Amino acid sequence: MEHKRSQAIYEEAVKYIPGGVNSPVRAFKSVGIDPIFIDRAHGSHIWDVDGNEYIDFICSWGPLILGHSNERITEGISEMIAKGTSYGVPTQIEVEMAKLIVEAYKGVDQVRMVNSGTEATMSALRVARGYTGRNKILKFEGCYHGHSDALLVKSGSGTITYGVPTSPGVPADVVKHTLVTPYNDIEALEEIFKTQGEEIAAVIVEPIGGNMGVVPAKKDFLLALREITKKYGTVLIFDEVITGFRIAYGSSREYFDIEPDMVCFGKIIGGGLPVGAYAGRKEIMDMVSPVGPVYQAGTLSGNPLAMYIGKKQLEVLRDNPQIYKELEEKAIYLETGIKAHLKELGLNYHVARAGSLVCLFFTDQVVRNYQDAMTCDIERFNKYFKALLEEGVLIGPAQFEAMFLSTAHTKEDLDKALEAMGKALRIAH
Ligand code: PLP
Repeated sequence: MEHKRSQAIYEEAVKYIPGGVNSPVRAFKSVGIDPIFIDRAHGSHIWDVDGNEYIDFICSWGPLILGHSNERITEGISEMIAKGTSYGVPTQIEVEMAKLIVEAYKGVDQVRMVNSGTEATMSALRVARGYTGRNKILKFEGCYHGHSDALLVKSGSGTITYGVPTSPGVPADVVKHTLVTPYNDIEALEEIFKTQGEEIAAVIVEPIGGNMGVVPAKKDFLLALREITKKYGTVLIFDEVITGFRIAYGSSREYFDIEPDMVCFGKIIGGGLPVGAYAGRKEIMDMVSPVGPVYQAGTLSGNPLAMYIGKKQLEVLRDNPQIYKELEEKAIYLETGIKAHLKELGLNYHVARAGSLVCLFFTDQVVRNYQDAMTCDIERFNKYFKALLEEGVLIGPAQFEAMFLSTAHTKEDLDKALEAMGKALRIAH
C-alpha cells in the first residue's frame, strides 16, 4: 500500500500544525508510523488521499453510529446552509433537540447545548460545584473526560497512549481539588468518601470506560457510587460522551438502570458536527445562567447546522429501536470471530465488548481498570495495527481505544475484517 500523497501532506502539515494534527492520537505516533490523510468516506468505508480504501472502525471516534455521510441525516442540510449558518439568537430547532434528549434520558429535566464533550464535562462540574457549594471532585483512573484542566489527571485516551497522565501546563493549584481512585474499586471509593465525602461536589464517571480500551463498570460499582453520592449529597455525573445514544437509546441510564444526577453528551448527538451537552434535574440546572448564578456560554452553542444533523440522527435512532439489537449482534459476531482466532493461535488475550464497542487487549489479564490495561503488550499491538492497515482495516491507532461499529458495517465488512485480523495476529506473533 502506497502512502506517497499522505506523506507529502504530512510533511507540509508538521510545518504549520503541532505534530501535523489537530488531536494527538491522529498522529499515529504511538504505533510508530506517519498518519494517513483522508479524502472521503461513505458508509463503513474510508479512502485516503492515495486512493487506499479501508473498512473504518474509528468512525470519527464514535459520532457516526449510522456510518459516514448517511443521507438520512445529511438530506436537507444544503437548504439549511442557504438559510444561514449561525445567528447567535435562539432557534426552534434547539428546543426540539433539547426535548428529544430530555425525553430519551429518564431523570433529567433540562439540557444545555455546548460544542464538545470537553465543554460538557467542564461545565457540568462547574454547575455541580455551584449547586453544592463544594470544591472537590472525584474521577477514576483511566477515565477521560476531555482536556479541561481539572479533569486532565490520570485520564485515558491520548494521555495514556503518550504517558502524560497529568499534562504540563495544568497548575498544581487547579488539580488539587481533583481526587482520583481506581475504577471498579468499591473499597477505595468508600475510603475516600469516609475521609472527604462532605467536601466532594461531584463524582464523574464513564459508565463504560472507553478511553482505556473498553472497560465496563461493574453494576455493583455503579450502584455503590449511586448510593454513596446520595448519602453525602454529592452530584453523580455520568459522562456519556461515548456511551450516550450508543449503548442504548436511553444511554447508560437505561443500560444499567441507574439514574445519575447529571449527564454529559457529545459525539452521537452531533452526528459528526461539533456538539456537546450537559443535562440534569431542574433544581440543579436552575443554577445555570441566566436563571442561576453559574456562568456558562458559547458563541456557536446550539448551532443550527449541528442541531439539524444531530437531531436527525437521534430521530433515526429513536424511530428504529432494532438498530441497537443489530449493532450488538454485529459486535458479538466480531468478538466471537476474534476469540476464535485467538484460540487457534493459542493466545489468551482479553476481548472486551459492551454493546457495539469492542476492544482486543493484548494481555492475558481480564481488564477491570487502568492498572490491568497497563499490562498490555504495546509492541505487539502496534505490529497488529500496522498489519491491519496494510489489509485495508482501520482501527484506532493505539491500544487503549475502542472499535466503533455502525449500522453501515455489513457482514461482508466484518468477515473481511476478521480475516485481516487473523493475518495481523499471526504477523504480530
Ligand atoms: N468524555 C469522554 C468519555 C470522551 O470519550 C471524550 C472524547 O473522546 C470527551 C469526554 C471529550 O469530548 P471532546 O473530544 O468532544 O471534547
